Amino acid sequence: MPALERPILPASRWSTLWPGRCAHCEARSSQPLCNACLQQDLPLRPRCPRCGVGVAQDGQICGHCLLHPPRWVGALTLGDYRFPNDQFILRMKFGAEPAIGRWFGDLLGARWLDAGLPLPDRILPVPLSRERLRERGFNPAWEMARRIAKRLDRPADPHALQRVRQGIAQSKLPLDARKRNIRGAYACQTRLDGKSVLLVDDVMTSGATLAEATQVLLQQGASTVRVAVALRTPLDPAP
Ligand SMILES: [Zn+2]
Ligand SMILES: [Zn+2]
Repeated sequence: MPALERPILPASRWSTLWPGRCAHCEARSSQPLCNACLQQDLPLRPRCPRCGVGVAQDGQICGHCLLHPPRWVGALTLGDYRFPNDQFILRMKFGAEPAIGRWFGDLLGARWLDAGLPLPDRILPVPLSRERLRERGFNPAWEMARRIAKRLDRPADPHALQRVRQGIAQSKLPLDARKRNIRGAYACQTRLDGKSVLLVDDVMTSGATLAEATQVLLQQGASTVRVAVALRTPLDPAP
């Protein structure tokens, strides 16, 4: 079953938690996770600088990126897309909780600065189609992007990149079909000559969505593209 279709915890349980309580241990917390759970469940650990999967040592590029280097130059993530962290994505998308996206954005912005990564000229969210945006009411990636922009004090633009073709939801497709499904899904009307871009999304799994969007930005003249995602699907088996 695709990850995003797994049943989530009953709404009644979540509604009794944050705000006010940590979502993982129920300790009092003004954030979705208390500091102890943040360190345990979204720990700083060595990750592939290109794609964000966990690796054995700092700076080590994962085997997949050595064989198939992504089109973007680097990726930052907060943690692995697995239980219990995946529940935040489900709540954000299907429970309409944009505040979780803003919290992810704050955390990513802080980690970006801590890691000393270069400040981008533009911060762009991976867009939703108009139809999906109407259904959801907000784009989680934009909630994240605008908070990262605030932290980095760099401009964000929710309109530069547009989703022009819907296709089937990537989460409903096997990994090998995702690249084909997403081809031609994005367009960018803005020239980005010589600009470094930070592309923001909630989850990276196969990377096909981010690769397609990156390609469009490079065609518009972007000098480099980096990506920031809240959670990264670990390689199977877990590293
Ligand atoms: Zn906690
Ligand atoms: Zn990698």
